[in-house]
Amino acid sequence: MELESILLPRVDAKRPLIIAGPCSAETEEQVMQTARELSSRGIKIFRAGIWKPRTKPGGFEGVGAEGLPWLKRVQKELGMYTAVEVATAKHVREALSHNVDILWIGARTSANPFAVQEIADALEGIDIPVLIKNPVNPDLDLWIGAIERIYNAGIHRIGAIHRGFSTSDKKIYRNLPQWHIPIELHRQIPNLPIICDPSHIGGKRELIAPLCQHAMDLNFDGLIIESHCHPDKAWSDAAQQITPEVLDFILNTIVIRDITQSTENLTALRRQIDELDNSLLELLARRMRKSNEIGIYKKEHNMPILQEQRYDEILQNRIVQAKQMDMDGEFMKTVLVAIHEESIRHQMEIMK
Ligand code: PEP
Ligand code: MN
Repeated sequence: MELESILLPRVDAKRPLIIAGPCSAETEEQVMQTARELSSRGIKIFRAGIWKPRTKPGGFEGVGAEGLPWLKRVQKELGMYTAVEVATAKHVREALSHNVDILWIGARTSANPFAVQEIADALEGIDIPVLIKNPVNPDLDLWIGAIERIYNAGIHRIGAIHRGFSTSDKKIYRNLPQWHIPIELHRQIPNLPIICDPSHIGGKRELIAPLCQHAMDLNFDGLIIESHCHPDKAWSDAAQQITPEVLDFILNTIVIRDITQSTENLTALRRQIDELDNSLLELLARRMRKSNEIGIYKKEHNMPILQEQRYDEILQNRIVQAKQMDMDGEFMKTVLVAIHEESIRHQMEIMK
């Protein structure tokens, strides 16, 4: 892919590129106040959702095109660039007719090739930076497919946004980061800038700072962070929004380390290993929690902990699977026995 820089003239070329602003444009006052507070802290690119894809009907679905003139004021009065999510050809036309500077495609949209193609067709012949969020499901090819559809429409200023992947297990993250996926995207398309969205990964304020640091340590190119003048009063995603003041504090606190050229490959590979290990640990912890649930069931139904036949089946099947995946059967057995032992230990605790 022959990609061109997504940087705009008045934006600093240094890493990280920062985009900030509320989840949604709510009122003209809220937009202007938030933008003023961000601009006075050096933020150059203002994000705001105009059309909001909500999981359930009845939620706030955005102010719609009525909010676009507010963004024009942000451009004119504060000299900021504006970024808006588009999900249909109509959104594209309306955003362009109001001179929005950057478009992004949301996670629900990039999961749908028909919708992405519709947006791509509406962008034919237009030169504007487009950022493509990962699809809600952890499917790298689908993400790359969305990027290719936009590229094939003639858009060369493209960036990706990593916003995590939908999960029913929301204990820690609202959307699981699965960092190995954007890392693999970078391996496959090295010149594609990748921006991390800690707000939608974390889903809560406290996680923004550590996620920003994590993204910087993984060499992400930028951050898109939800910021609102009165976060607790936000009409959407209140729990994850931070004030411009807190945003400024976080940006001044995170450490930006630069990976030197000579060791870049090795370091990148090691980081991938770290990420995969993190994913393994997360998965193991989830498996243990599931096995705790089974422990409770067994207790309630007066069943013994060890179910030999089930254990045998697991061993047999997984060993066959492992061999098909180029791993040694004995190795797999050792891993499974260890996991099983730990599961039993957990269930014993529950039985007590
Ligand atoms: C958003 O950026 O406010 C949004 C709706 O994000 P996502 O598409 O990642 O859910
Ligand atoms: Mn949001």
